[in-house]
Amino acid sequence: MDTLVRIVLASRIGLRNSLGMLAALAFACVLVADVTVGFAPSWRYPIAVLYAICIGAVLRARLRYHAEAPGVARKDVELGALIVVGALAAVVNIDGSLDGPTYPLMYVTFVVAAVLAHSVAAAAIIGFAIAVEAALRFVAYGESTVWHLATHGAFGALFAVIGVLVIRAEVARIRSHSRGRVKAEIERMHVAARSYRLLGAPARVADTASSDASASCADDDAGRLVRSSVEEIHQAVLFALELLRRSLGLHTAMLLWSTDTGTHLRISELTTDSEELSEGPFTLGDGIFGAVAADHGIVALSGLKPSYALPYYAHGCPVKSVAAVPVLEGEHLRGVLVADRRQDVAFTDSEQEMLVAATRYVLRAIQNERVFVQLERAKVEQGKLYRAARALGAALSERDVVEASVRSAREIASFDFAAVTVYDEAKQTHEIRAVSGDAADALVGARFRHNAGLVSMVVQNGHPLPYKGQFDRSRQIVFTARIVPPSMPSILVLPLLVHERPLGTLVLGARRNNAFGDAVRPTLEVLASHVAVSLANARMVKRLEELATSDGLTGLYNKRALLDMADTKLAAARRFSRKLSVMIVDLDHFKKVNDTHGHDTGDVVLKGLGAILRKTKRTTDVVARFGGEEFVLLCEETDREGAVLLAERIREELMRATFPIPNGSVGVTCSIGVATYPEAGQDWETLFKAADEALYVSKRSGRNRTTPWAPRRKNAA
Ligand code: GH3
Ligand code: MG
Ligand code: MG
Repeated sequence: MDTLVRIVLASRIGLRNSLGMLAALAFACVLVADVTVGFAPSWRYPIAVLYAICIGAVLRARLRYHAEAPGVARKDVELGALIVVGALAAVVNIDGSLDGPTYPLMYVTFVVAAVLAHSVAAAAIIGFAIAVEAALRFVAYGESTVWHLATHGAFGALFAVIGVLVIRAEVARIRSHSRGRVKAEIERMHVAARSYRLLGAPARVADTASSDASASCADDDAGRLVRSSVEEIHQAVLFALELLRRSLGLHTAMLLWSTDTGTHLRISELTTDSEELSEGPFTLGDGIFGAVAADHGIVALSGLKPSYALPYYAHGCPVKSVAAVPVLEGEHLRGVLVADRRQDVAFTDSEQEMLVAATRYVLRAIQNERVFVQLERAKVEQGKLYRAARALGAALSERDVVEASVRSAREIASFDFAAVTVYDEAKQTHEIRAVSGDAADALVGARFRHNAGLVSMVVQNGHPLPYKGQFDRSRQIVFTARIVPPSMPSILVLPLLVHERPLGTLVLGARRNNAFGDAVRPTLEVLASHVAVSLANARMVKRLEELATSDGLTGLYNKRALLDMADTKLAAARRFSRKLSVMIVDLDHFKKVNDTHGHDTGDVVLKGLGAILRKTKRTTDVVARFGGEEFVLLCEETDREGAVLLAERIREELMRATFPIPNGSVGVTCSIGVATYPEAGQDWETLFKAADEALYVSKRSGRNRTTPWAPRRKNAA
């Protein structure tokens, strides 16, 4: 029943999905039949009406689909097939054949299908058209050669391909054009920002201006900030110029601003009635500009002749009076404010004062924005450093610190490679502890001696290198000549200093030029100092943990650490119903060793036994010095027999070992007690007591032996 329902449902969906195509096929058959036998005209009208309804429905269905939606190709084919049948019907009805003057209508259909439909759908539509045409030719017209059909098919395909190529080329052209325009607009904005001194080093501007995909969101934020400031300045300047033009009856009022090099003036903002203005830039020494630049004073002229050469008018001089006012910031000429009039009315003193006031207004607007940008930038940087400090503060292990450092650095600058190296002062070696980005596997863990590379130099001198983060591969090495980071034009090695002591370095690399410019380097240096402190803290935490959990003489776990682990291991054994064996190893007559050969020899023996235990145990076993000359092993998933075997190996190993004394050597033996969960005890106290009892049996029955706990002994005890 279920299957039947599914079949019915599937066939209903299939039918609905293929309705359009079935309709196209039906109309194609009707067309072929009509041409073959010739229907009465009265039949044709209802067919035409039906066709119109069908095409309307399919078109409506197609328009509901999004261009990328699944199933859209099928809709394209349905619509295309219906149009093809309609076009063929028109051709045969008008021309009475398929070789008349109306046939190119089919080519138009092909091109439209190729351009508008998906490529697979377009191919299907063209294939369908050729099939229907073939049916018409061979069935209706009784043709016997394929010559006509082949030429039509070939031309149709050719037109379709040409249509697609033309459209693709056009799309590419428009895209590249708009990309170019966006780039030019950003560049123009940056030039303005630089000339207003909102931005620092030109190198960084080029970076942000390039639509480099790897440029971080940090760059984006800075870019937005600067863009909005430039816009504010433009608004303020435009307002001032408009005001001047209306109140002084000017022909042109414009602000020219000095370029980076200071040798030219560029039009920054203008308001004018003139259409003959040249675009600039203008040489600073030219005509009236030269006069303003020479003595930093106002130049006002009147009674100008049409032949007078004003640098900013392309053809002759349309004005009769002009005034040029220097825009001065301290001693520096930043720009020139120019005002001119068509009438021969000289600029009076009060008018000149107004112009000077306007330059002051403009300068104040620029200075305000400059302060604003600096404040905003400082705020953003502080936020980043605050977040970095929090992330680093929370990192307690060296690994966490390294991860947090790389994450925080990424917020400040965009880079493609980061590495942290640590320096071992005693051995004078560096080790690459972590790498993010390319070549990570090859570099992590690499060690190298102190050398003349950048990392060594930075550790030695405590200053970031190379200068401005510009890396010269031909002359500089980062780690060593053989251990090299991926090739990049920008590399910055920052020292990790704590109280002037170098712990290592943070190495950053970027594929862009000048990625570590003045705008980010100082912040990265502050970050590096945070990283260094956190790294020192992480080391201290690790050291403290080691001290708290290990035994100073043997380096094995101490009693406290073992008791902690015993709880978890016992809980795991209980949960998974596994065995767990406890082993107590105690040296025989150790007091005598101390008394005869001295405490130092005793210590050597204890260390020796520690080494044997460490060597003999399996990786999952835990071994601890429990106190004095007593050691405890926890062996997971180990039953009584397995534990006894291991104990015997330890005992024999110790028996074979000799320990040096001033003139000769000394050997010792040990006794061992073994108890296994669950038979010897369900909790730690009982289990340990059982092992201790077994040890006591070993001691009492002659020492240098292993005894597993057994119930009868328990009873005996
Ligand atoms: P038994 O075979 O019955 O275990 O005899 P024993 O002498 O080994 O037993 P006892 O418990 O009487 O003596 C343990 C000795 O271990 C006492 C102490 O001098 C020595 N000892 C404990 N801790 C240390 C240590 O850190 N270094 C040295 N050298 N000796 C230690
Ligand atoms: Mg002992
Ligand atoms: Mg003892």
